[in-house]
Amino acid sequence: MSYALFLLFVLGVLFGSFLNVLSLRYDENSWLLSRKTLGGRSHCQHCKKTLGWHELIPVLSFIFLRGRCASCKHKLSLEYPAIEILSGLIFFLVPLYFFSYKYTTHIFLWESYWLHAFSVLWVFAMLALLLIAAIDYRKYLIPDELTGLLWFLGLVWVGMLYYSGDFGEIKGSFLGEYASLFGVRNNLFINHMLGSFTGASGVFLVFFLSHGRAIGFGDAKLFGALGLLFGWADVVMVFFLSFVIGSIVSIPLLLKKEKTMKDFLPFAPFISIASFLVFYFGNDIMRLYFSLFSLY
Ligand SMILES: [Zn+2]
Repeated sequence: MSYALFLLFVLGVLFGSFLNVLSLRYDENSWLLSRKTLGGRSHCQHCKKTLGWHELIPVLSFIFLRGRCASCKHKLSLEYPAIEILSGLIFFLVPLYFFSYKYTTHIFLWESYWLHAFSVLWVFAMLALLLIAAIDYRKYLIPDELTGLLWFLGLVWVGMLYYSGDFGEIKGSFLGEYASLFGVRNNLFINHMLGSFTGASGVFLVFFLSHGRAIGFGDAKLFGALGLLFGWADVVMVFFLSFVIGSIVSIPLLLKKEKTMKDFLPFAPFISIASFLVFYFGNDIMRLYFSLFSLY
C-alpha cells in the first residue's frame, strides 16, 4: 500500500509540472489547452534560454540548481516546486481519504470499486482548484474552462452518490454525522442545487457589501460550482473558512503596510485551501468546534 502511495505521489509531482506550464503560459485571450499554451519547449522566464532535460526534472532540478537558472543565475519562483509537491500530495491524499476509515464509516457502498471512481473525481477537482489558485495568484483571473470543469465534476459527483450506495442521512457530506444538523438531507439533488445557489449568492452578498472590492464575478461562478460539488452545508463551511484564511493572511500584510485596503488580493487561493480542508477535515473541524463549545 505504501509503495502504491509513493508511486501516486511521484505521478502527481510529474503532473504538477504540467500544471506549472499551464499556469505560466495561460493568458485570457486563448483557450486553456490551446496549442499556444501547450506547444514549444520550456525556457527561463528571465534569460529566455531553452531548458535542458536536467533542468526540467520536477522538484529535484530546483534543489540541485539551488533555486536558480543554470545560465543566468536568476532566482526561480518557489511556486514551481510548491505546485509540484501539492499536486503530488493531492494524488495520494485523496485516495487515502476515501480508502481509509474516515469516509467509509459513514456510508454503505453497493460495490467497493466506487471508491476508485470517487478518488479519480476528487483528484481532478482538487487539481482544478490548485490550477485555479495558481492562475488567480499570477494573473488575477479564474479561467472559465476550469470553473466549467468543476460544474461538470459536481454533476458527476451527484450522479455517483445517487447510484453508488446507501449514505443514510449524510448523503455524501464531508461533515459526516454533523451534516444532519443543517437539514435539507432528504433529497440529494435539492441539497446540491441549494448548495450551488447558496455559494453563488454568498459571493454576491459580499460583492455588494464591499462595493465590489473584496471579491469578483469569477469567484461567484467558482462558488456556484463548488456548491454543486460540495452540497448544502459543506459549501457554507468552505465559504466561511476561505474568509477566515483570507483574513489570517491579509491582516499581517495590512499591519506591515505592504498592502492597503485598496489592494486586491487574489481570493481563489484561499477558496482552494478551504475546499481541501473541508473535503479532508470537514468532519474533524465540526468535532473540534463542538468539543470546544461544550467546554463552556
Ligand atoms: Zn535564465
